[in-house]
Amino acid sequence: MSHAPELVIKDLHVGIEGKEILKGLSLEVGKGEIHALMGPNGSGKSTLANTLMGHPKYEVTSGEILFKGESVLEMETDARARAGLFMAFQYPVAIPGVTVANFLRTALNARLAPPETNGGGAMPHKRGIAPKEFRAMLKERMALLKMDESFAGRYLNDGFSGGEKKRAEILQMAILKPEIAIMDETDSGLDIDALRAVAEGINATLSPEMGVLMITHYQRILNYVKPQFVHVMLDGRIVMSGGEELSHQLEANGYDWVREQVGLPAGIGDEVSEPVAEHV
Ligand code: ADP
Ligand code: MG
Repeated sequence: MSHAPELVIKDLHVGIEGKEILKGLSLEVGKGEIHALMGPNGSGKSTLANTLMGHPKYEVTSGEILFKGESVLEMETDARARAGLFMAFQYPVAIPGVTVANFLRTALNARLAPPETNGGGAMPHKRGIAPKEFRAMLKERMALLKMDESFAGRYLNDGFSGGEKKRAEILQMAILKPEIAIMDETDSGLDIDALRAVAEGINATLSPEMGVLMITHYQRILNYVKPQFVHVMLDGRIVMSGGEELSHQLEANGYDWVREQVGLPAGIGDEVSEPVAEHV
């Protein structure tokens, strides 16, 4: 009914163990929009992503997070995921013994089942997708992402390369069709070929029904996945917003250029002041 953006973050303040990390962050992401959130290490990007998903360690001290017009602050992580918020993690965990296909079918059925049938020993698969239908869907989405069919039978993230882990996250996104997808440093640790494959997977999954918040330290993934909006985060706040050109200015001039523009001394809002080696 409402024409408000799917995700509305208003003056968000978040603390971890009593230390304030997010200091009044506001951001709106609508359907079909791609927003890039860029910032140096320690500026609070992952804190925002974890807070959006409801990680219990992150305490919202004031402000609001509205998803499809309703506050999510009292919702558990799984309820947020079922409602259509999705997060691709920087470090996906391995689940030996659970195949990619089984994991995805369980996740999809949880998303399809009405909340009242979840938990309490209900059998959500009875209301979910039929196995045959699921296999066809999985096959189609894997072809779309140019993934080998054998991938579906492997144990989730068990012995996966960095690129395979990220593609498994994108496959999950392609199956679950979230309304808002948050990607935290999906580009980190990928070599150029893996980066291109992952970015092409993201592009194949984009739809006018999905909004994307792409969190990244580096500009390079934005050469493949083009954002309409770019925001710069420093010291727990968004201090500058612009269009795609802003990411190129950051690439050329670094984050100190933003600090100068907004009147922060060099190093403020960046807990690691020298360039950081990429995660492997
Ligand atoms: P970014 O993702 O931009 O690198 P983070 O959100 O990870 O930044 O970190 C922001 C700040 O919050 C840092 O000072 C970091 O040390 C602190 N922080 C993040 N997560 C935790 C945590 N789980 N416990 C304690 N401090 C944390
Ligand atoms: Mg981070």
